[in-house]
Amino acid sequence: MAIISENNRKKHRQYGNTQFRYGLIYICITLAVLLFLNVYTSGTSQKLFYQSKQASMIEKCQLASAEIANLEVLNPTAAANAVAQMGSLRISRMIITDQFGTAVYDSLESDSALGRYVLLPEVVQALEGNDVFSWKYHDGAMQSRAATPVLSYGTLIGCVYMMEYDIQQGSLIQSLQSNILTITLILELVVVLFSIIFSNAFSRRFRRILSSMRIIREGDYSHKVVMRGKDELAFLGDEFNDLTEKLQTSENKRRQFVSDASHELKTPLASIKLLTDSILQNDMDMDTAREFVGDIGNEADRLNRMTQKLLSLSKIESQQDGDCEIIYMAPTIERVVRMLSGLAEKNGIHVNLSLADDSPILILEDDLYQITFNLVENGIKYNTPGGALTVSLLRSEDNAILQVRDTGVGIPPESLSHIFERFYRVDKARSRKSGGSGLGLAIVKNMVERNQGQISVESTVGQGTVFTVTFPTFDTEEEEL
Ligand code: ATP
Ligand code: MG
Repeated sequence: MAIISENNRKKHRQYGNTQFRYGLIYICITLAVLLFLNVYTSGTSQKLFYQSKQASMIEKCQLASAEIANLEVLNPTAAANAVAQMGSLRISRMIITDQFGTAVYDSLESDSALGRYVLLPEVVQALEGNDVFSWKYHDGAMQSRAATPVLSYGTLIGCVYMMEYDIQQGSLIQSLQSNILTITLILELVVVLFSIIFSNAFSRRFRRILSSMRIIREGDYSHKVVMRGKDELAFLGDEFNDLTEKLQTSENKRRQFVSDASHELKTPLASIKLLTDSILQNDMDMDTAREFVGDIGNEADRLNRMTQKLLSLSKIESQQDGDCEIIYMAPTIERVVRMLSGLAEKNGIHVNLSLADDSPILILEDDLYQITFNLVENGIKYNTPGGALTVSLLRSEDNAILQVRDTGVGIPPESLSHIFERFYRVDKARSRKSGGSGLGLAIVKNMVERNQGQISVESTVGQGTVFTVTFPTFDTEEEEL
């Protein structure tokens, strides 16, 4: 018991891990997707901002450069005048330098660069003849810098440098990024929540199947697992219920068989006990004692026959098949009839054989012998003195038919459906008197079916019974084709 509960615990733990693992994989995948979307959207929005800013800043620089290029001389006064004519450019700082990089104009009044070399990288590049733009995001503001060369008749005479310090756009980008991040976090939270809910619901259904399995393992075959829905798990539940139903049926059959068998074995044993008690207690003469001992022998024979038949039944049911062979039925039937001729003679039964229409079938020779033996024996045993028994072989389409017809007592219609059950006898007293255990036809049915055959019975009380056994024929020529 301790081992079982330990196993259960282990299974539970493994199951929990699986659920956790799948949940984690799901969360990681969605997290990766969301992160990608996050980086992609904020990157794209920054790029868009960059491109529009670059275009507008360079345009402003170029406008200013064009104005400066028209000046006759580039000195602080002329530059300041030119800038004044440009109107408001809405930028934070503008520097104009000559071709050596010395500032001739600086819009910044305090800490002005006027008259000094401007060593900004944008200025250096612009003096090399390039349009330059750069930006950086710093302290919630965006700093954009642009510089373009000033060319007068193709000759570089200076450069214009502009810097814009934009808090509005900076905060726009910042809020955009923080919004995307918040949405990402909320989405991930929702994903985590849903993955927990769904994986729990999913694993709850699995656990239900598992706990049903455990209940059935403990022997409660009547238990059913309830799975709603139309998905694979519901299908699994249905299959599982079918399986347990079959288990229950076979368990019931097994219990019935054990109780029937012990009941049947008890009767001859009780007779033996009674007879031995009588011999021991009574002061009987030698002849009576001999008669009693004879009866004990008969009961022992019956026990022996019964146990042999039980063994043969369980052997068939455990599918211990031998090697099938292709045989004609007539020789086996003749052997059986020879074997039972003594019994037929004793009971005054005339046996007829009509075996001309024989066909080969694939069967265990031993099974065919047993089938024929039981049917012929019944036809003799349940016959009336002076009656007849006819064994015929027929053929219809692809079937070989064995028919055993007697003119005996017959079987009442209500018993016909039961005669193939184990231990079933129509007339217990008559059957027991003739040594019957009610197992013969159960064995016959099992053997016929395991050789792909079918058996049927027709009977009229007082007129007789016909057993018809059908096997598929096995024509060697056809099979080879
Ligand atoms: P066993 O064959 O095990 O020695 P049995 O003959 O009683 O015992 P079955 O062969 O299984 O058992 O037959 C079951 C019952 O069916 C018989 O007891 C008998 O009542 C009835 N029965 C079988 N064959 C015939 C028949 N040809 N005519 C009339 N009744 C029959
Ligand atoms: Mg029988």
